[in-house]
Amino acid sequence: MPAKGYELLHDARLNKGTAFTEAERRAYGLEGLLPPAVLPIELQVARRHDEIANLGDDLQKYLVLSDLQSRNETLYYAVLMSDPATYMPLVYTPTVGEACQKFGHIFREPRGVYLPITARGRLKELLSNWPEKDVRFIVVTDGERILGLGDLGAGGMGIPVGKLALYTACAGVPPRFCLPIVLDVGTNNQNLLEDPLYLGLRQQRVRGDEYAGFVDEFVEAAQALYPKCCIQWEDFANINAVPILARYRDKICTFNDDIQGTAGVALAGLFAALRISRSKLTEQRFLFLGGGSAATGIAELISQAMVHEGMDIGEARSRNALFDINGLLVKSRTDLAEFQKPFAVDHALIKTFVDAVKALRPTGIIGVSTVPKLFNQQVIEAMAEINERPIIFPYSNPTSRSECTAEEAYRWSQGRAIFASGSPFPPVEIGGRTFVPGQGNNVYIFPAMGMAVFATEATRVTDEMFIVAARAVAEQVTEENLATGLIYPPQTRILEASLHVAERVAIHIFDKGLARAPRPKDIGGLIRARAYRPVYTE
Ligand code: NAD
Repeated sequence: MPAKGYELLHDARLNKGTAFTEAERRAYGLEGLLPPAVLPIELQVARRHDEIANLGDDLQKYLVLSDLQSRNETLYYAVLMSDPATYMPLVYTPTVGEACQKFGHIFREPRGVYLPITARGRLKELLSNWPEKDVRFIVVTDGERILGLGDLGAGGMGIPVGKLALYTACAGVPPRFCLPIVLDVGTNNQNLLEDPLYLGLRQQRVRGDEYAGFVDEFVEAAQALYPKCCIQWEDFANINAVPILARYRDKICTFNDDIQGTAGVALAGLFAALRISRSKLTEQRFLFLGGGSAATGIAELISQAMVHEGMDIGEARSRNALFDINGLLVKSRTDLAEFQKPFAVDHALIKTFVDAVKALRPTGIIGVSTVPKLFNQQVIEAMAEINERPIIFPYSNPTSRSECTAEEAYRWSQGRAIFASGSPFPPVEIGGRTFVPGQGNNVYIFPAMGMAVFATEATRVTDEMFIVAARAVAEQVTEENLATGLIYPPQTRILEASLHVAERVAIHIFDKGLARAPRPKDIGGLIRARAYRPVYTE
């Protein structure tokens, strides 16, 4: 132990609190600085469980956990990993959204690196102030599109912090290699600009070449200081997210979870759904409600997965039709953006979604419109008439925006729907049967992707890696899960499921020659050996 005495008790990475043994207390000058009882970590975890369970307010729980992270990192992860289904919503969505909104008001200890655009030309210097010299994973946001909450400026830091906690808690990426970053280019949120406690730059957002140059400088600085680092872009507005990914994806190890992780998790749900309907991906036709970034991202990954199964890309894309606010995306429409054009079908314009369902006869509908209730009774009944097992995925978040509820999908399809949603729904009882709706949560994909990239020291993150990950997630769904309609692994088993997914992705990385680490005989063994465990070390 490099630190001793009082200093050791205030080093979050080394601190064990009341778990320091008597011998350690003697050796490190801790005698008298702790109450005499020595507690095992299990009792420390139980104590935190009790404390948190007794709090009525989720933001308070978030703060208690955040303070614990600053005091005793091992115990923080032991608590999270002991019950991920309970703690994930507290350290990440939905609670983290409120934490970002109130960032300046609840600010305690800084965590991560803030890179203001006013420091242009010096980003490498600022980054090198971070104490860890071997950073392998950066999650970075510019705070412009935080969850569904919009522009939260520097308050967006809660997102990289929370997301990285999930990389560790759900897939074992060791926390000391992780770095949360905010690129502060200003905010257009007037309420924040007028709030005396706002902690970011008080200026309107910088756009255009100046913005792009700033992002370039950040990427170069990160690459220079941490050559093995993967950069994950998070919660950028579409206008920046898409070009940033396009600019760097073939140059460095990088991905955007909002685009690629979302597509991966939707594809995972489809692979598991096909286990229920016993059919092939290339036999499916999908109709998306929504033609934005989520819809086109998912549609493209499904198309790529169809190509993997031997289909031509044009045919594959034509099996993924989109329907937006102006109707079906057809070739004759003149209002389509470049990223939408590949999915425009050769068809007359159709103005209502139910008519599009009847005309295109999809096997699955995927809702990414942000508009609730558009999968109405007519739509679900039409799907149930066309298909023995209609796939119904209302993916818009939060729950209040979901295109339908689980209960509606099951009831209107007489229990035949294969259902998953973006936000969670409780189990549904229909005709004496219990259905367990799955949640297409990106957490099934990104932590495992991070672990695979970390363990293999991958040079790139490719779309193919997301297809491999999606298949691996679907493999983790048991026959018992499928029997209740559940098409994602239960969140209680997230670590086990993620390590399996990471192993599959790591094998693919080695096979494709994208690894910098030497290929071991036992790739699963490598993943497990590199995975973080929340245990105190000597
Ligand atoms: P977006 O704003 O880019 O796209 C929304 C699309 O919906 C647009 O094409 C718009 O034309 C269309 N639309 C709006 N109103 C409509 C209407 N009345 N009828 C038909 N189409 C309509 O948004 P996005 O980033 O693509 O996200 C869409 C939704 O997907 C969000 O609710 C988001 O929460 C959800 N999402 C879920 C996950 C997940 O669960 N894993 C991940 C990402 C996004």
